[in-house]
Amino acid sequence: MNAELILQARGLRKSFGALQAVDGVNLDLRKGDITGLIGPNGAGKSTLFGLIAGETRPSSGQVLFQGHDITGMKPEQVFRHGLARTFQIPRPFRKMTVLENVMCAAPNQSGERFWSNWIQPGVVAQQERENRARAEDVLAFCNLTHMTQEMAGSLSGGQQKLLELARVMMAEPRLILLDEPTAGVNPSLIEHLIDRVVELNARGVSFLIVEHNMDLVMRICARIVVMAQGRRIAEGTPAEVTVDRKVIDAYLGE
Ligand code: ADP
Ligand code: MG
Repeated sequence: MNAELILQARGLRKSFGALQAVDGVNLDLRKGDITGLIGPNGAGKSTLFGLIAGETRPSSGQVLFQGHDITGMKPEQVFRHGLARTFQIPRPFRKMTVLENVMCAAPNQSGERFWSNWIQPGVVAQQERENRARAEDVLAFCNLTHMTQEMAGSLSGGQQKLLELARVMMAEPRLILLDEPTAGVNPSLIEHLIDRVVELNARGVSFLIVEHNMDLVMRICARIVVMAQGRRIAEGTPAEVTVDRKVIDAYLGE
């Protein structure tokens, strides 16, 4: 494993019935990069995210994250290893507050609360306070402090995208997969969201971002991977892929 790479996917495949949604994809993500993942609708981008993040088991292939084989791990395990994803359609717990949504995303939420409480109640209370303080910091970073006590379901689409980012930040991830982070988000919030991404990247977090806004992709992505019909059809710098005939044809054929 090359230490410069944060993620390597080898020969990933997933079919739904007769449809090869992801058809033997190889992917190398360099540590510290913001990599763009583009391609026409139905190309397999969200399915690829699911394969990497553990929601969907690949029919074949392998995923290495920071040198560890994470193929077949459950999403929570992958998350605890420091690889987090957001969803194309945000999935907050709508009837919980914004703060609760973020607090419950913290790893090490003791599944054995009953026992640890019984043995060391002081320790649990202390963890709870620390968790809350962290959640408040993360919400401030995502400019959601004023929404802390609102029900998550009452947030605008853009605020829900920010909430998704806040939730994944609780895991202190090293790699974040963002699925269409700006879709349905109003322009002022888009800038905001992107500023947060760029700032996290400056702190060393790597990103893989599915994004249709090419201006944005060109502005923030070091490299771009292009998918069409389940396959990786091109890869390179933004300048390289946007003049690639295969890429242009894939979009024209949409
Ligand atoms: P993208 O995110 O690039 O738009 P997707 O990964 O969502 O593409 O979908 C790739 C293909 O797989 C599409 O043809 C889609 O209809 C199909 N697909 C995705 N998820 C499922 C599923 N759970 N069951 C059946 N088909 C699916
Ligand atoms: Mg998608």
